[in-house]
Amino acid sequence: MAPTPTSAAVSHVGKIRSNNQDSGYAGVHLFVVADGMGGHAGGDVASAIAAKRIAEADAAYPSVRDAEFALQQALIAANSILAETVFEHSELTGMGTTVSGILRVGDQLALAHIGDSRVYRLRDGEFTQITADHTFVQRLVDSGRITPEEAAVHPRRSVLMRVLGDVDAAPEIDTAIFDTRPGDRWMLCSDGLSSYVADDKMSTILVTVRTAQGAADRLVKESLDHGAPDNVTVVLVDIDDSEGASGIPPTFVGSAAVPLSFESDAARRPIRLPTLLLHPLKATPPEDTHFEPEGEGYLEELIEEDRKRARRRRIIWLVALVIAIVAIAGAVFGFYSWTQSKYYVGDDHGRVAIYCGVQQNIGPISLSSVCQSTAISVSSLSDFQQQTVEATIPADNLRDALNIVDRLSTAAGN
Ligand code: CA
Repeated sequence: MAPTPTSAAVSHVGKIRSNNQDSGYAGVHLFVVADGMGGHAGGDVASAIAAKRIAEADAAYPSVRDAEFALQQALIAANSILAETVFEHSELTGMGTTVSGILRVGDQLALAHIGDSRVYRLRDGEFTQITADHTFVQRLVDSGRITPEEAAVHPRRSVLMRVLGDVDAAPEIDTAIFDTRPGDRWMLCSDGLSSYVADDKMSTILVTVRTAQGAADRLVKESLDHGAPDNVTVVLVDIDDSEGASGIPPTFVGSAAVPLSFESDAARRPIRLPTLLLHPLKATPPEDTHFEPEGEGYLEELIEEDRKRARRRRIIWLVALVIAIVAIAGAVFGFYSWTQSKYYVGDDHGRVAIYCGVQQNIGPISLSSVCQSTAISVSSLSDFQQQTVEATIPADNLRDALNIVDRLSTAAGN
């Protein structure tokens, strides 16, 4: 009986883009996601070249250290092929690709990573991001300039600091080794998933959907439900008791899965790989998700731009604060003026008096004061009048208040 499939790879062009520049690979021991980028062309070429070259490292290794070394070498080799390709096809200058890959050796994994595709692990219901993005905004987060929440909506969040491509002969590749165990579910994805679907949503799907294929499909659907402005690729691996056979034949998805026309040329014309892969070129829409920084000057420009943004934010805050303070002060002043246009007649230490304002106090602030005393003794009034004065008699204006005082004066016989 064939083993139950324990891995899955799904890639979708998304709802906005016209071509898929992502590539994915789910093999026997090796699993890869690559997210290509390029100016007018090349993103799909870059990720396909990288995924195909790295897939050659899908083998059983005697130790996880060997696997780690082989995976790293495969990424470096892919980088060289990309550089050669650009050398021969200058129109592809600037193309590059992220790569995140894991290579299983028994109960351990070797990981290699460059760019902003991600590797996550679900273990005992706990969802953990394993890789760190090589992005400009992650640098800003690491240096304490912005919060992760600000990074998620930062206008420069797509700027990558490291990729495979033609920019660097010795790319800085993160590698690491992890223990793994039956029941672990590993997920590799392009930012077309992780930028649009929240961590807790991804986690819920991984926890609740039993099969790798079902979960990968659900994750991609979730991104589509969020509008999928970018290509989206998910590769899932469930760790079981076997030594690695994943139950599905090695599978490419995304641009690496598309049979390019040069492949038929290859049979007829033995030309070396990069030339073959790039003929003919496919037109791609203007790329807006990734930029490769060109040296430190560019980085400084970005940091300066970020500073300006922060300043603008502070100024907007200050202006809003001043407006709020003025509005509150205006309301308070308006209320106070209104209270001071009111009068009432009441008892002031045994004498009838005309008060300006209203009887309420706001904390320690009294909203009324005696504005005219009289010689009328409250005790000289009838019981009813005394009670009325003690309870205060409201007046519409000063004249009205004076009339009330006159009436009381007459009643008191003064
Ligand atoms: Ca992307």
